[in-house]
Amino acid sequence: MGLIPQDKIELVKDANDIVDVVSGYVSLKKTGASFKACCPFHTEKTPSFVVSPAKQIWRCFGCGIGGNVFGFVEKAEHMSFAEAVRFLAERRGISIEYTDSGKPELRDQLLKLNELAAKYYKYVLESETGRAARHYLSQRGINAESLARWSLGFAQDSWDAFLKYAKTKGYTEQLIESAGLIIKNEQRGSYYDRFRNRIVFPVQDRNGKYCAFGARVTDKSLPKYLNSPETQVYVKSRILYGWPQAKAAVSESNTVIIVEGYMDVVMPHQYGVSNVVASMGTSLTKEQSQQIKRYAENVKLCYDLDKAGINASIRGIDVLIEEGLNVSVVVMPQGCKDPDELLVKKGKDAFLEAVNNAKDIVEFWLEAEKTSAGTELSGKIAVVAKMKPVINKVANELRRKGYIETISRKLGLEERVVEKEFSKEERSYSAAAVKGQANPAARERVCPPAEKELLTLILNSAEAAGRVCAELLDSDFTDNINAVIFSEIKRNIAERGVLDHSGIAAALAGEAAEAFTALSLDEREFAGQEKAEKDLVRHIMNNRIINRLKELEPEVKKVGRSEYDKNLVNEYYQLLRRLKGMKK
Ligand SMILES: [Zn+2]
Repeated sequence: MGLIPQDKIELVKDANDIVDVVSGYVSLKKTGASFKACCPFHTEKTPSFVVSPAKQIWRCFGCGIGGNVFGFVEKAEHMSFAEAVRFLAERRGISIEYTDSGKPELRDQLLKLNELAAKYYKYVLESETGRAARHYLSQRGINAESLARWSLGFAQDSWDAFLKYAKTKGYTEQLIESAGLIIKNEQRGSYYDRFRNRIVFPVQDRNGKYCAFGARVTDKSLPKYLNSPETQVYVKSRILYGWPQAKAAVSESNTVIIVEGYMDVVMPHQYGVSNVVASMGTSLTKEQSQQIKRYAENVKLCYDLDKAGINASIRGIDVLIEEGLNVSVVVMPQGCKDPDELLVKKGKDAFLEAVNNAKDIVEFWLEAEKTSAGTELSGKIAVVAKMKPVINKVANELRRKGYIETISRKLGLEERVVEKEFSKEERSYSAAAVKGQANPAARERVCPPAEKELLTLILNSAEAAGRVCAELLDSDFTDNINAVIFSEIKRNIAERGVLDHSGIAAALAGEAAEAFTALSLDEREFAGQEKAEKDLVRHIMNNRIINRLKELEPEVKKVGRSEYDKNLVNEYYQLLRRLKGMKK
């Protein structure tokens, strides 16, 4: 019995709804968005045990323990983590052992059904029903070869055409629903097709098996794109659209071009540029980066450079750099918003030119930060501080030095100053480090209220979380546990693009996990949420400045002895001014 692979663990977690599981042990009562019960782990008369279906976590506010679905089973069944995973896998008929002979796994059934669906949609596109859709595609410039290469299809304007078809092939509604192809109407208890009146882009996994579908409207109706939900065979963070078709070219050119949408993949391939794939959703994940790393060293990010695209590019830097990949950003020429448009309007050479002129990632990032850096030294130092943890992940020392040189030059800072800033000991906030200090005396930690408030606020608003993560550093949280939680939130958002509470709970351990569930389940409304967020961020930023001032103080006191570092002293006074300005 070896280690259970991470994807299996994820699968098991997703298949076991926490409310469902916990209901097997205590009777839960719905109160607002959560469920309550008397705690199964200690004796009590008033319920203080809370389960959140939205966040897939639980916590007892009486005994202070909490976690995700695995943590609950570990406690309730006195199991180890691995045992809990097996227990829950069995509960949903998921096989964890190496494929046993005989009966096909659910996974295989889903893949087969998806293949049937891909063929069906393709058939509809080619039939009389698909005439308008074919016309639309040809107007968009897609040729017959591309239709075949990508198995493009069409879902007709009907509530149950696919459902009926799949049933005639012997698939049950339950299985078709697990594949994400139909949706249950809870009121009527009946099912209907997920994809209706849309062009269908079948998505293949890295082995070329159909694992999901994307579907696009042919008119102005919304949403423009509709995608399969995550299923047993479709874990979004692991898929790159177009990978099977692009793989050989990626390997040969040692370069992958990453774009945003299906059309942005289809078009370049049609024009003979085949090392192009799309990340599903805009943020790149660790799994995707690792997959790329096995085939190529160079990554060219080619997102729409609106605000979301710029942020996605910057978020992408972190995971890609950590894998040791060379990253640059492709900027579309004026008047073209994406590769699809550029190719259709200006052709292959214009596209290749844009790709070849991709901007060095650090230069691109600095440009995006230019306004926030401002002209004052403190602003520039803040940008340096923001880039430091990412740039310091660059393993190649020459490249890292090169980046530091670029940063100095672009910000107009002395290289020596930037170098110094970069070599400063980075505080380490790994969850493992905190796990080690299970010291009961540390239980009575004094937790700065502003940090706690801010964490509570961002845990209940993914939007606010995105903003705050872009602004604050882990080290801004003076409480170690808060820093660990914040760091994990940040990682979660960067990897998944959403707040996955049960994932965060699983990544944390011990006290940090307990503190996290308490913050996460504190679902109060913040009066004037935006102002509260701003005030809290400012408060914490102030502390950052105050701490830096303290560090700089000895330098300033050297004045008169003529051996002080002028830059550091300048920084001191600028920070002092900034602090005064913020207090107004
Ligand atoms: Zn309890």
